Amino acid sequence: MKTATIVKHTGSHYLLAELPDWNLFPAVLRGKIRLKGSPATNPVAVGDRVMFEFDGKEGEMPSAEHPAVIISVLPRKNYMIRKSANLSRQAHIIAANLDRAFIVVTMNFPEVKLPFLDRLLVTCEVYGIPAVITVNKTDLYNEDDLARLKVFHEIYEGAGYEVLDVSALTGEGTDTIREMCRGSVSLFSGVSGVGKSSLIKAVDPALSPRTGEISEAHLQGKHTTTFYEMYPLASGGFIIDTPGIRGFGLVDLSKEEIALYFPEMRRVSSGCRFAPCTHTHEPGCAVKDAVAAGSISPERYESYLGMLDEGGKYR
Ligand code: GDP
Ligand code: ZN
Repeated sequence: MKTATIVKHTGSHYLLAELPDWNLFPAVLRGKIRLKGSPATNPVAVGDRVMFEFDGKEGEMPSAEHPAVIISVLPRKNYMIRKSANLSRQAHIIAANLDRAFIVVTMNFPEVKLPFLDRLLVTCEVYGIPAVITVNKTDLYNEDDLARLKVFHEIYEGAGYEVLDVSALTGEGTDTIREMCRGSVSLFSGVSGVGKSSLIKAVDPALSPRTGEISEAHLQGKHTTTFYEMYPLASGGFIIDTPGIRGFGLVDLSKEEIALYFPEMRRVSSGCRFAPCTHTHEPGCAVKDAVAAGSISPERYESYLGMLDEGGKYR
């Protein structure tokens, strides 16, 4: 029995590779592989490490007519899920075992909405996927944008996030992305138009036709299942491009849990007089003290309050 990684799901079969080698071969699931206790409708997803068997003759490679057979799924480091569209309680695993997510934003092209970014960051925290905030199109920034960029760095570096300034156009910062990607699996996410495809292309020009395919699949639009796909970078490492932000998944949190996924709040909340503390009306709240003292940004705190208002359910 051997192990391999799922790099693509075509609907009828999976494509596996023994990473870091990129010799893709087809595989099917044996019978019903079920994840114990998992509500997921799909037992495996892109990024999953699986055990497989192949009973081919000496020297034969798995083929569409005679695919390998996936026997089991190895434990996951992390995974992203999406609720099924049909309002059932079922969820769909969209990708597994990610080393980081590059969350791509721009100051003004389009303008980054902090509450929305903060929801994405909370989602990454819930999934256990390190987020790298990537500010693209810096070549376009005027003085005003640069002033906002400075404040943006203060807010998010203050919260504990890495913030990269990049330009897919000039290549600024793309070496850093390339280095970070080496030897790992990275996801690119962000709203349409921020330059995800352009950044991926800047990191590896050979990938441009493939990222084109991804955008087309996105334009075809409204299918409930969107198949994620992994791509090898010539410089080493693998990327997963998400078809728009809708693909990023949904998490349900209780009100008490939300603050756990704001790293800067989590760090100080043991100092709150009450436990649990919602960090709103309670006396002796270390989070509110930190906001008042300026060590937690008012913008992040506002996002937190917004999420509390929504009752912990958000997209
Ligand atoms: P995606 O929807 O996130 O994949 O965004 P695209 O990569 O398709 O880029 C959207 C638009 O922004 C395109 O017209 C790109 O040429 C442009 N663009 C992307 N990155 C940059 C950049 O760093 N600087 C400038 N000036 N334009 C960019
Ligand atoms: Zn508190």
